[in-house]
Parts: sequence; structure tokens; C-alpha cells
Amino acid sequence: AYVVTDACRGCRYTECVTVCPVECFHLDEQMTYIDPENCIDCGGCAPICPVGAIHPSWQMPAGKSDWVEINRLRAAETPVIAAKIPPLPGADEQARRLAS
Ligand code: SF4
Repeated sequence: AYVVTDACRGCRYTECVTVCPVECFHLDEQMTYIDPENCIDCGGCAPICPVGAIHPSWQMPAGKSDWVEINRLRAAETPVIAAKIPPLPGADEQARRLAS
């Protein structure tokens, strides 16, 4: 499955939900999570994320492996998000910070 990492926290642009064919994104007040039971590994969400927060579970960046389990746990206890919503305040600054 694909996995949302902490780069999403505080941004939550939700571009990802516009391309996911199977509605596997969930969200809380901080970020989104991918339900690994539903993800079909299409790969559509990773390149569209403005902060590069999404990675395949088999190719996690160094130090980010914990997010595989966090996505599984949090997706199970948070609601599905099926349509884009406005990003969190401060998202653009965070995106610039992550890109620099
Ligand atoms: Fe959805 Fe495809 Fe991303 Fe999985 S890889 S979360 S199916 S868009």
C-alpha cells in the first residue's frame, strides 16, 4: 500500500483524494492516512502531493517506516475523505520549508 508520512501534518492539501480511484484516504485534524486494506497501489497519489508526503510501503524514506503502521491504525479509526477540502492554515509555508 501507499503511505502518508508526517510531511502531510499541518498541510493536508488533499490533492491525493481527487485521484484515488478507491476512496482509501481518511483524515483527522492534522493530516490524511491511507487505508492499506483498500489501496490498490495505483500510484496516482504520490506524484500529485505538493509536499511529497506519500510513498509506497516497500520504498519508505529513511526514518519513515513507522508511518506504515500509523496509517493502518489511524485509517481504521478516522472517517473517509472523498473530496478535496481547503488545506490547513500555514500549509503553503510548510510546503516551501519542505522544498527548501
Ligand atoms: Fe489511492 Fe492509488 Fe494512492 Fe492507493 S496508490 S491511496 S489506490 S491513489
